[in-house]
Amino acid sequence: MNITQLIAKKRDGGELSAGEIGQLIGGYVGGSVPDYQMAAWAMSVFLRGMTDAETAALTDSMLRSGETLTWPDSMSPRVDKHSTGGIGDKVSLPLAPLLACSGVCVPMLSGRGLGPTGGTLDKLEAIPGFRTNLSLNEIRRQTESVGCVITGTTPELVPADRKLYALRDVTATVPSIPLITASIMSKKLAEGLQSLVLDVKFGSGAFMKSLEQARELAKNMVAVGRRMGVVTTALLTDMNQPLGRMAGNAVEVAESLDVLRGDGPPDVRELTLKLATDLLVSAGIENTRDEARRRLIRQLDSGRAFEKFEQMVTGQGGRLAELRPIAVATELNCDREGFVAAVDTESLGWAIIDLGGGRRRLTDRIDPSVGLEMLVRLGDPVVAGQPWLRVFASSAKLADVCDRLQAALTIGDSAITPPSLIAERIG
Ligand code: URA
Repeated sequence: MNITQLIAKKRDGGELSAGEIGQLIGGYVGGSVPDYQMAAWAMSVFLRGMTDAETAALTDSMLRSGETLTWPDSMSPRVDKHSTGGIGDKVSLPLAPLLACSGVCVPMLSGRGLGPTGGTLDKLEAIPGFRTNLSLNEIRRQTESVGCVITGTTPELVPADRKLYALRDVTATVPSIPLITASIMSKKLAEGLQSLVLDVKFGSGAFMKSLEQARELAKNMVAVGRRMGVVTTALLTDMNQPLGRMAGNAVEVAESLDVLRGDGPPDVRELTLKLATDLLVSAGIENTRDEARRRLIRQLDSGRAFEKFEQMVTGQGGRLAELRPIAVATELNCDREGFVAAVDTESLGWAIIDLGGGRRRLTDRIDPSVGLEMLVRLGDPVVAGQPWLRVFASSAKLADVCDRLQAALTIGDSAITPPSLIAERIG
């Protein structure tokens, strides 16, 4: 079939074969399929969806569009986590070193923040000197010597995703479950993993607003991972309030260090432990979740996970002792008595961007000193005048977002039951 016929087949609700999908992706990366045809095909997928077999074939073709990381047998098991992103989600920072000192290797390739949720690489760059652009050889060497690495993807890995994602971004075809699944899973599978855990977030500060959407995405990604030989599990987690107290860049590194010292906010510690537990069990390091959890708690509370983080930072050129300073703090107060009923978490994320702590375009520069600290949690009783948010920013910048920040907090008259952090496990 020619490319026009393939587009028409999808437009009319047909199922493309693995060969046809391979022809399309190969042609796109090679330059024989132009952007306008790929855009038409992406829109037909957005409208018609894909079968599980098509999503797996798309993931496979994208994965094969570039190189993949290969490893000696001695570097097993290799595991990683992917989060769909949320405000204050800094879990990758404590998770990678915690796992690396618990018997597994973690070659973690992460992304930058774009839109309201921050990016792991931007957070780590609040550590002066920390390199997030390691080459394939440097990724291998760092994983071999330290046991974990957190860096950006390289030009050799999954070039099809880089090209297709940029096209989807400007053709309103990003929010398609099969396209998201293939995009995320091809990048994760290129790491050469044996086990993967997915943190699929839902709620006001997440990409997926409802639990149902998050469940569908998680099921799709788990099915593709398993089909491709990687033990994949997923947690559906609540993002109706920031994770932990801190959201921003330098502030999130500081909070991650607290978790690595065996302390930190209970929700960040708990989510880190839950995700790491899944991986230790699925990688066969421990037989039961209880044993895995005990092993992980020992590494956190003994300081070994902290030492591993220091080794990772030093290995990537960072100077942890020189972590960038945090901007001057101003408190916002509750305007009435009652109970914290809702937090417009996405609008907190946009406010961080407007304060300079995130980006709207990939070329925007980030001010690592900017951030927010949540002083209340959903369900907390509050009184008028009680501080609910600490904003780290210059007063000139704060003036522009102050009203929006204040509007992000809803105080109700009656007590509510706070949501559980982990709603479901899949796989
Ligand atoms: N993140 C990705 O990496 N890909 C998508 O398609 C959406 C979010």
